[in-house]
Amino acid sequence: MNEFSLIDQFFNFPYPTREDIVFGIGDDAACVRVPAGQDLLISTDTLVEDVHFLSSWDAYDIAYKAVMVNISDMAAMAATPTWICLALTIPEQNLSWLQQYSQGIRDALNEYKLVLIGGDMTKGPLSMTISIYGIVPLNKAIRRKGAKPGDKIFVSGELGGACLALQFLKKPPNNQLDFSKAMKKLLHPQPRVDLGPILQATASSCIDISDGLSADLNHICEQSGVGAYLEADKIPVFSLAEEYMNHNARTLALTGGDDYELCFTIPPEKEEQFLTMIAQNGISCFEIGVIEKSKGLRIKQTNGALEVLKPQGYLHF
Ligand code: ADP
Ligand code: MG
Repeated sequence: MNEFSLIDQFFNFPYPTREDIVFGIGDDAACVRVPAGQDLLISTDTLVEDVHFLSSWDAYDIAYKAVMVNISDMAAMAATPTWICLALTIPEQNLSWLQQYSQGIRDALNEYKLVLIGGDMTKGPLSMTISIYGIVPLNKAIRRKGAKPGDKIFVSGELGGACLALQFLKKPPNNQLDFSKAMKKLLHPQPRVDLGPILQATASSCIDISDGLSADLNHICEQSGVGAYLEADKIPVFSLAEEYMNHNARTLALTGGDDYELCFTIPPEKEEQFLTMIAQNGISCFEIGVIEKSKGLRIKQTNGALEVLKPQGYLHF
């Protein structure tokens, strides 16, 4: 099959109609219309074999995760993801691999009502680059900068699950713990697009936790010119990690990447509105600390000791 029939067979699938798409795959460029009163957000992420996923994973999971990682960047901006472009590099024409891969892309897109509007296909070592587009009401995108002293720091869910699953993959546990929930966190993360309208109304800064809580919260602090005080006891740790790793579980939650929950700050005057909105939407979030004027990260340990928290997480270079 040539490149064009591959694209036709595996990527030009029927997609739900969206009024904001004039036309998608098939021309030299796609054409979309940003709705009036909305800003357009654009982001790109590359996933490389053995860095972001293991070659042993199913093509379905690789594709699904690639889309979710990108959707999470839109969730982090409090935006609604709308369209993606996919540039795929594959070493060979493996039709059953491509079939699974395309199904993973499709399912991920359908879950969040996105449409694949274009891309590219080349031969080479396996890697994929997805560009994602999203919309948000004018000037309502939430940025990393914007946190102020006194703002409360929240995370949107338990942390450490994906990192725990990676450790299980490297060294399978010798007890009978069921780690399917951790594997789900790693392979099928669910980006928190649901928080978008709430964050637009109440948050002063936001980031998605892709590299690890301490590393990602540190980005908020650096870009906002502030510091953070955390309480170790308040950090929501993935329950299986506590069972499996005891006291190391919190380190996993502070430094493990790939969870794709959100970390954000809420100013005191918006706190009541924030709590009401999450309760109305049946969402639970966890308050973990407060923004302070003094730069750097500090953490109050369970024994009451105040320690400096080094921003640790995944770094590529
Ligand atoms: P060009 O030669 O102009 O770059 P291509 O042959 O790469 O065009 O692509 C033909 C059409 O198929 C374009 O509309 C492009 O966006 C789309 N396309 C190519 N690869 C993919 C892919 N992996 N997923 C979705 N659409 C793709
Ligand atoms: Mg091309």
